[in-house]
Amino acid sequence: MSFRWPLTDPSVIYQTTGVDHDPTVYEETAYKVVCLDYLGRTFPWCYDEHEGSDYLLDGGFETMDGGSTPIVAAADGVVVDLDDGNYDRCHADGEGVSCDGHAMAPNYVTLEHATGHATRYLHMMEGSVAVEIGQSVRCGDTLGIVGSSGNSSAPHLHFQLEDAEGTVIDSYAGPYSQEETWWVDQGHEEGLPGMDCDGG
Ligand SMILES: [Zn+2]
Repeated sequence: MSFRWPLTDPSVIYQTTGVDHDPTVYEETAYKVVCLDYLGRTFPWCYDEHEGSDYLLDGGFETMDGGSTPIVAAADGVVVDLDDGNYDRCHADGEGVSCDGHAMAPNYVTLEHATGHATRYLHMMEGSVAVEIGQSVRCGDTLGIVGSSGNSSAPHLHFQLEDAEGTVIDSYAGPYSQEETWWVDQGHEEGLPGMDCDGG
């Protein structure tokens, strides 16, 4: 099984911030900048203890208010968990994140795939979750819209891959990650993965 990029419009995404492969935890580091991504790059290509890949919305809240952009299933699967109805304008505030007094809870969808792996899609816009628990989805089906709900400093998608035991896997191959990529097309190191589904 391989994954397509779980968004549909590369032009609205300006940065990828990936899984941290540096085991050291630096609790005193304000912006958690001590990290290594799959290629050994540091912040902003990763941040400390990060467990997924963030794709940040170019233009931030202005773009989100203009309609934002859809999040799609990275492969065929079944919806096993979700939440919606949470405040979606959480933002950076000093060294942390503020949800303006609302609960810091993400709108999200979790898919389980035939191999037992799970993919998680976090921080969606409030009211945008487009699927139901138990629903089967095909690769490319819309799950929701990019927002800034939960522990999110700006509108972005957090995409997280886990094995059947819940262990985080970096979907990118590289010298600091595993040898095999989980993407159908990992793409250029400063670009984005391809949007073709596994098996066409
Ligand atoms: Zn993230």
